Amino acid sequence: MTIRTRFAPSPTGYLHIGGARTALYSYLYAKHYGGQFILRIEDTDRERSTDEAIAAILEGMAWLGLKEDEGPFYQTQHMARYQQALEQLLEAGHAYKCYCSKERLEKLRQEQTASKQKPRYDGHCRDLQQSSNEPYVIRFKNPKSGEVIMDDLVLGRVVINNAELDDLIIARTDGMPTYNFTVVVDDWDMKITHVIRGNDHLNNTPRQINLLRALGATPPQYGHLPMILDEHGKKLSKRTGAASVMEYREMGILPQALLNYLVRLGWSHGDQELFSLDELIRFFDGSALNKSGAAINPQKLLWLNQHYLQESGIEDLIPEFAWQLSHLGIVLKEHPSVDTPQIIVLQRERCKTLKEMAEKSRFFYVDVSEYDPKAVATHIHAEALHCLRLLKEKLAALSVWQPETIHAEIEALCAQEGCKMGLVAQPLRIALTGNTLSPPIDQTVYLLGKDTVQKRLQRFLEVDQ
Ligand code: GLU
Repeated sequence: MTIRTRFAPSPTGYLHIGGARTALYSYLYAKHYGGQFILRIEDTDRERSTDEAIAAILEGMAWLGLKEDEGPFYQTQHMARYQQALEQLLEAGHAYKCYCSKERLEKLRQEQTASKQKPRYDGHCRDLQQSSNEPYVIRFKNPKSGEVIMDDLVLGRVVINNAELDDLIIARTDGMPTYNFTVVVDDWDMKITHVIRGNDHLNNTPRQINLLRALGATPPQYGHLPMILDEHGKKLSKRTGAASVMEYREMGILPQALLNYLVRLGWSHGDQELFSLDELIRFFDGSALNKSGAAINPQKLLWLNQHYLQESGIEDLIPEFAWQLSHLGIVLKEHPSVDTPQIIVLQRERCKTLKEMAEKSRFFYVDVSEYDPKAVATHIHAEALHCLRLLKEKLAALSVWQPETIHAEIEALCAQEGCKMGLVAQPLRIALTGNTLSPPIDQTVYLLGKDTVQKRLQRFLEVDQ
C-alpha cells in the first residue's frame, strides 16, 4: 500500500503553528514510508475563505519547505463530484431530505435542553415517504446501533457508540455540501490512507467513518494530535504565541529551526533535540506521538535558531538574510561589492535571529547619517578626534588592506599617542557605524573597504569639527 497523507487547511486565516505542525507530521509520515503528501485547500466556506489566506498558506508551506507531491487542490473545484456523491447516498437510502423548519429544530433543542438531554436531531424526517416542495437539507442516515472503532495513531483504540451520533447534515438548503461531507469525498477520491489532524476534529471522525462506509469506501487510519498550549498550559491565543508561520520568519527565525521546534511539540525520538530534515523523515514512523498537549517554549526556539545560524552553510543563510535586509529597505543585489558571506560569518556568532543580524549589519550597506548621541557624548572629544584624523591618514596610506594590517595601524597609533585601544576603537566605530556596537573593529573596517572608511571618516570629522 502506498501511504498517502494530506494537509487540508481551510483558508480562513494565516498558517499558524498548529496547522504547520499538522502539515509537518503529515509530510514526514508520508515521506518516511515513501508515500505522497497532498495539499488540499478546503475553501467551500465562501464567506470566510479569502484569496489572501490561500496565498498566506501557500507561502508558509513553501517557506517551511513542505513541498506537496500533489495539489494544491481546491474543494470549490469539486462541487459536481460532491453532488454526485450526495445523489449516490440518497439513492442508496443512506441519506434523506429533511424538511424540518428552523422553528421546529429550535423547539426541539429547547425541550431537550430543558430535560437535560444532549441537543440532537430526533430523526423526524428519517423515514418520510413522500417528498415535498419545501426547502430541505440532506441528512446522513447514521447507523442507529453498533459502534465505530478506530485505532488512532496517537490515542490508540477509540470506540464510539452510534447511538451517540445523530443524523448529520451533509448538504444545506442551498445545496452546498457541508464540511464533513466534502472531506470524506475528497479523502476517498484522493486515496488518502492516513489522516493526521488536530484533535479538535475527533468528534467528526466517527461520523466521517460512517459516511465513508456508506459510500463504499475504506476509511483511512486517523491520528489526532493534541493541542499546542501556551507556556502556562493554557490554550494558545494570538497574544501567547499563536503566531503565523510568517511572523516567525519576520522575527528572524530560520525554517529549519521552526521545523525542528514544531516537530517536538508532540513527538520525540529519545532525548534528541536537533534533527536534520533527513533524520526526521528517517525517524518519524508514526510512533512516539504524545497524547497530551505540548507547551510552546520560545526560549527553546531561539536556542534552536541560534544553533542553525551557526551550523548552516553561509550560502543557505543568504536568502533569509537578504529577505530581512529588504525589510530595512536594502536590496542585496544592489550591493555586489559588499562581502555579504563574510558579514554573516562575523555576525552569526553574535545574533540570535536573522532580524537582529540584518539590523546590526545595516551600516555595511547604507551610509551612516546619524550618530548615537549618548555614544558621541561619552567617546567623542578633542583627543579622540585628533586620533581619528591621524588614523584616517594612516588607513589611506595602507597598501595591504587586511584585518591584521588594519589592527597593526590602530595599535601603532595608540602607541604613538600613548593612549588605550578603546580611545581610538570606540570613536572609530561611532564614525563608521553610528554607534559602539559593531563586531571587532579591525574586521569592521576591513569589510567596509578603504573608500567607504575614508568617506565616512571624512564626513564624521566634518560634521563634528
Ligand atoms: N479544513 C479543516 C481545518 O482547517 C481540516 C480538515 C481535516 O483535516 O480533516 O480545520
